[in-house]
Amino acid sequence: MEQPLIRALALTRRYLVGKQEVRALDGVDLEVARGEFVALVGPSGSGKSTLLNLFGGLDRPSSGEIHVADLELGKASDNQLVRYRRERIGFIFQSFNLLAMRSAVENVETPLMLAEVKPKERRERALKLLESVGLAPRANHKPNELSGGEMQRVAVARSLANRPLLLLADEPTGNLDTATGRGILNLLREAVSAQGVTLVLVTHDPDVAAHADRIVHMRDGRIQRIEMKSH
Ligand code: ADP
Ligand code: MG
Repeated sequence: MEQPLIRALALTRRYLVGKQEVRALDGVDLEVARGEFVALVGPSGSGKSTLLNLFGGLDRPSSGEIHVADLELGKASDNQLVRYRRERIGFIFQSFNLLAMRSAVENVETPLMLAEVKPKERRERALKLLESVGLAPRANHKPNELSGGEMQRVAVARSLANRPLLLLADEPTGNLDTATGRGILNLLREAVSAQGVTLVLVTHDPDVAAHADRIVHMRDGRIQRIEMKSH
């Protein structure tokens, strides 16, 4: 069998709050295959964002192992993690996290700039990405001139700019109405089916989770159960 893209082994993340230890993750074992779409669900505070941040190299485990492709993230250097995030990961957040002073096309260009893609190619690729999310006509608009759904489409285009292996989405439809959220979900599913991207998505919405290949139910920092979907 092909190596899974993600392998988490006995993963924990603890925080000290005053003298109190908070176990945000309390022994998670999980494998995610390449090209798979996994939904993370569970009550608020169950560790979903903590797990997603560990997958994305935004945070480090307290113990256990987290491997993505050929990199063990807990042992990687800070520089390796910076490159890992830039080159292999696309992030999408509930609050869009666009640069307020930059136009839609400039936001999509940001990761390409960090990857030192030349200006002309950068602009061309960013415009193509905006077109693929149906936003070519809004290329020069600033975030405050866009609707929530449009901002999230810019964020999706940005997340795909460096052709990531892994897309990590933390409640990407949480601030959107149902129909708009469905449009965003479809763009993400398209990235999985057309480009073979792996998608791990946190959601509260059972209708969104229902589109995943597997639904991982979390509770108190642990995996409670895993639901397989056959579409
Ligand atoms: P979820 O995304 O499922 O709502 P989180 O992963 O954000 O949950 O949080 C899991 C637990 O870890 C919660 O109890 C939360 O309060 C705690 N936690 C998260 N981040 C921190 C932090 N930086 N410091 C202290 N506790 C934290
Ligand atoms: Mg969260």
